[in-house]
Amino acid sequence: MIFIYASDDTALELATAAETLFPGEKRIAIGTKCNELLAYFDEVWSLGEFYPNAELLRPLLTAIVPSGSIVLLPHNTFGLDLGPGLSVKLGAAYVPDVVGFDGIEGATLKAVRQEYAGQVSAHVHCDISRGAVITIRSGIFRAAEPSKTGQLIDHSAAVAGITPRRRFVELIQAESGDVDITKEEVLVSVGRGIGDKENLALVEELSEAMGAALACSRPIVDAKWLDKPRQVGTSGQTVKPKVYLALGISGSFQHLGGIKGNPFLLAVNKNPKAPIFQAASVGVVADLVEFLPVLTEKVRAAK
Ligand SMILES: Cc1cc2nc3c(=O)[nH]c(=O)nc-3n(C[C@H](O)[C@H](O)[C@H](O)COP(=O)(O)OP(=O)(O)OC[C@H]3O[C@@H](n4cnc5c(N)ncnc54)[C@H](O)[C@@H]3O)c2cc1C
Repeated sequence: MIFIYASDDTALELATAAETLFPGEKRIAIGTKCNELLAYFDEVWSLGEFYPNAELLRPLLTAIVPSGSIVLLPHNTFGLDLGPGLSVKLGAAYVPDVVGFDGIEGATLKAVRQEYAGQVSAHVHCDISRGAVITIRSGIFRAAEPSKTGQLIDHSAAVAGITPRRRFVELIQAESGDVDITKEEVLVSVGRGIGDKENLALVEELSEAMGAALACSRPIVDAKWLDKPRQVGTSGQTVKPKVYLALGISGSFQHLGGIKGNPFLLAVNKNPKAPIFQAASVGVVADLVEFLPVLTEKVRAAK
């Protein structure tokens, strides 16, 4: 059995990861407010309605997940908070930041991780005979399509008696500024590869020609070339466009973690080994300064 803690819409990506790892195996989603996942899982274990808090979930999941299970979590701040301690409590292996699987041989899981900001792929072998807690990098696996008629099982009673020291106070949304990129269907997003602030004009021309909104990676905000509300990523906005152009963006998990909903992702990067190409629908190996004016012209001509 594979358990997936469904903290957000990465649950559907984890469902695909589970199918890749153990095709045909029963998969179970556990979470709060997760009834809408019934079309994607064999079972959905509902914990009731509360703000997911790793301190509370650790003993809770230890109590209800059978030992020897495989647990998949998103590799984000939530998964990183929950995963290591949960693996200790379950007596299971901990395999963080997985971007792919090479298969399973006996009780050995062969997983792929990235190191040095994605420049190197590490193929790790891990003994999962006593189960495993695996965190999966966001944006690597496509979201699952609805294919199940799952059964909803109420596990809310398990919460009683667990009193965490942390408590949820309030959720403060980031300011959206003059543009709300979270609501845009087409985003032209620029990264450090643009090189110079003056070159931003090339990106602005393209986004204007496409009728798209301008977004960016964190270094562009750190350099104060664009405002914070345009930053995509784990410490910026979470976006759900239909089309996403990643221009001179390497594809860090902090950036990809902010892109949801499996958009059509076009990546332009001069480095053919840039990790962004692993997440891209279409990749173009080119220098932005040469490529952008040509693309903008083509877009204008097509219109
Ligand atoms: C706690 C934490 C939170 C973070 N949150 C975020 C976040 O929310 N969002 C975010 O984006 N990052 C975030 N980061 C930073 C993240 O780790 C990366 O450093 C960042 O995403 C890299 O941005 P980049 O891809 O634009 O730059 P780089 O990684 O420097 O990549 C630039 C890319 O441009 C390419 N390039 C260079 N020149 C050209 C050219 N002329 N033409 C074409 N391609 C070219 C290069 O090959 C390279 O792949 C966070 C980091 C931490 C530690």
